[in-house]
Amino acid sequence: MIHRRTFLSKTALVGLAPIFQHAFSKNTSNKATLPVVLSTWDAGVRANEAAWKILSSGGHALDAVEAGVKVTELEQNCCVGLGANPDREGKVTLDASIMDHLGNCGAVAALERIQHPISVARRVMEKTPHTFLVGQGAQQFAISEGFPLMPDQLSPAAQKAYQEWLKKSEYKPIINIENQQQTPYLPAPSHLPDGTWNHDTIGMIAIDQNGNLSGSCTTSGMGFKMRGRVGDSPVIGAGLYVDNQVGAATATGQGEDIIRICGSFLVVEFMRQGLHPTEACKKAIERLIQLKGKEQACKIQACFIAIDKKGNYGGYSLQKGFTFAVYQANGGNRLVKSSHILPC
Ligand code: ASP
Repeated sequence: MIHRRTFLSKTALVGLAPIFQHAFSKNTSNKATLPVVLSTWDAGVRANEAAWKILSSGGHALDAVEAGVKVTELEQNCCVGLGANPDREGKVTLDASIMDHLGNCGAVAALERIQHPISVARRVMEKTPHTFLVGQGAQQFAISEGFPLMPDQLSPAAQKAYQEWLKKSEYKPIINIENQQQTPYLPAPSHLPDGTWNHDTIGMIAIDQNGNLSGSCTTSGMGFKMRGRVGDSPVIGAGLYVDNQVGAATATGQGEDIIRICGSFLVVEFMRQGLHPTEACKKAIERLIQLKGKEQACKIQACFIAIDKKGNYGGYSLQKGFTFAVYQANGGNRLVKSSHILPC
């Protein structure tokens, strides 16, 4: 009998084969051509496909970054949407943010039972006088906007992981790395051997044919977090930042620490000072290490990706194991192994 996950992996692998003809590349410098879309982790490859359909036909970056991460929010074999690990009370709570080229932004946090938090974040941006809705208020708004309320239940994999977690009830966030033991071309392996998720976020940034930038970030947050915990992903300036004069950046990793350095804003500010996106991401990680000290820094992972106004892009992580996906006309859709700072 073929296991459902194996079946999904195999079918996705066959379907995606042409995407990977450009293979797994190194984090080398890049030639700027527009449009460009960039997203975090292996799952970004599949998300980039949806974003590219919009960008390559002259569409807006904002539509592309919303459509792109919606793919990941729906993936049951991934780690971002309603199929993800719950908080320690057994509830999946989702966070998301979106920002456009005009500096408009919207975000939701601790949103339950709604499949596409990124689209709710966009509605917050476009239809309310606010930028951030949380918890029940965010859910109420989503329902009033016509988003269906999904069943209050965990995916089978998350249910299993939660039952396992309850045995010890210890909060030990796992360093989030992409598990590349099998092949980097498989859909993101979603579980570590003990049944826990590997990481929980997709951040996407894009520049369209008109040179306009936008970004999105969506997550289930850290598995088994305290009820009410919110990480960096929906916090504008931490998990995501866009300045259309300069560039865009997004983050993944230990949200508490990314918030401490206003990570994505910091990356954009470094680009404003003239740094290449790769260098800007590296300097933000260095700031984090400076803040925490090397020993503590080695207990976490933090990663940034960035694009500047010309379409140059890059990424950097604190420690080994971060990947990001890039799609542009002259390179196709590729997975890049990020450079990292600490040999932990
Ligand atoms: N940054 C996310 C959070 O802290 C987690 C992740 O990127 O995996 O909620």
